[in-house]
Amino acid sequence: MINRICIIGVGLIGGSLARALKASGACKEIVGTSLRAANQNSGKHIPGKQSTGNQSSANLLKAKQLNVIDRFETEISVAVKDADIVVVSVPVGAQDAIFIALADCVSSDTIITDVGSTKRSVSDSADKYLGKLSTNFVPAHPIAGIEKSGVEAASGDLFQQRRVIITPTENTSKIAVSVVQSMWEKTGAEVIKMDIDHHDEVLAATSHLPHLLAFSLVDTLSQLDEKSEIFKYAAGGFRDFTRIASSDPTMWHDICLANSNAILAVLETFTRDLKKLEQAIQEKDSQFILDVFVRAKKSRDTFCNEQL
Ligand code: NAP
Repeated sequence: MINRICIIGVGLIGGSLARALKASGACKEIVGTSLRAANQNSGKHIPGKQSTGNQSSANLLKAKQLNVIDRFETEISVAVKDADIVVVSVPVGAQDAIFIALADCVSSDTIITDVGSTKRSVSDSADKYLGKLSTNFVPAHPIAGIEKSGVEAASGDLFQQRRVIITPTENTSKIAVSVVQSMWEKTGAEVIKMDIDHHDEVLAATSHLPHLLAFSLVDTLSQLDEKSEIFKYAAGGFRDFTRIASSDPTMWHDICLANSNAILAVLETFTRDLKKLEQAIQEKDSQFILDVFVRAKKSRDTFCNEQL
C-alpha cells in the first residue's frame, strides 16, 4: 500500500485519481495542494497569469469537504513532505512553475508524475527544472476525461477500463516507473508505455485536432448573423460533434501551444483532405464524396466495435 500521495491541482483528473485510489484502498493518505493558493499565501505572483489564489484555496476546501482528499496544505513544501508520490495535475502551461517549486522541496526518495495531455513539453520541463530529481519523474497521460472541469466533476470510475500512457526515457528510474504503473492499475486502468514524441503525434491526431475543430466550428457558427436560428435548430449531430467545445479553454490553449508541431502537421493533412472534399462538392463528383463517407463510416464502425 502507498503511504502518502500528494496531488498538486485537485481538479477533474487529480480529484478523480484521488477518488479512485481511495475507493481501491491503495493509499493511506491523500494530500491536496495548489501552487496558486501557495503563491497567494507567500505574496508571489505567477507572471502573465491573473492570481486566483482565493479561488484555489476554496477549491482545496471543497475537495476536502467532498472527501476527495484527506487534508490539504497551502504550502507546497509542507504538502509534499514524506509523500511517496507527487502527482502534478495542472494545465500543461503551468508545469514549469510547479517543477521549479518542487525542485526546492521534494526529497530524492519521492516519485514525481503528471497527467498532462502533452508529453514532450512536460518531459523537457522536468529535465530543465527538476535537475537530478528528473530521474524520479515518470510522465503519464490518462486517456480519459470529460468536458467538465474542477473537483466537483471528479469521479472514481473515470479511469476504469481506460488506458494510461506513460512515456519514460532510458534515464527514468525503473522503480519509479513500476510504482506509477501500479498506482494507475489500482484505478482500473491499463498502463501502456510509449515513446514521448510518438505519444504527441498520436494524441495530436486523435484528441487535439478534434478539440480544435469543435472549438473552431462553434466559434464560426456563433459569429454568423443568424446565430440564434442556427443554434435553435441544432440537433443531436451538432451536440455530438461539438460536446468537447465545452471543455476548459485554458487547458486546450495550453495543449495547442505545447504540442504545436504535431498539431500543425496533422492539421495540414486534414486541411488538404477537406479542400479535396470541397472541390468534389463544387464539381459534383459524387463518387469521390461517397468514397470518403463510406471509408470514414467503415473506419469509425470498426474503431467503435473494437472499443466494446
Ligand atoms: P481542472 O479540472 O481545471 O483542474 C486543474 C487544476 O490545476 C485546478 O484544480 C487548479 O488548481 C490547477 N491550476 C489551474 N491553472 C493553474 C495555474 N495556472 N497554475 C497552477 N495551477 C493551476 O483540469 P483537469 O481536467 O483536471 O486537467 C488537469 C491536467 O490533466 C491537464 O494537464 C490536462 O491536460 C490533463 N488531462 C485532462 C483531461 C480531461 O479530459 N480534462 C484528460 C487527460 C489529461 P487550483 O485552482 O487549486 O490552483
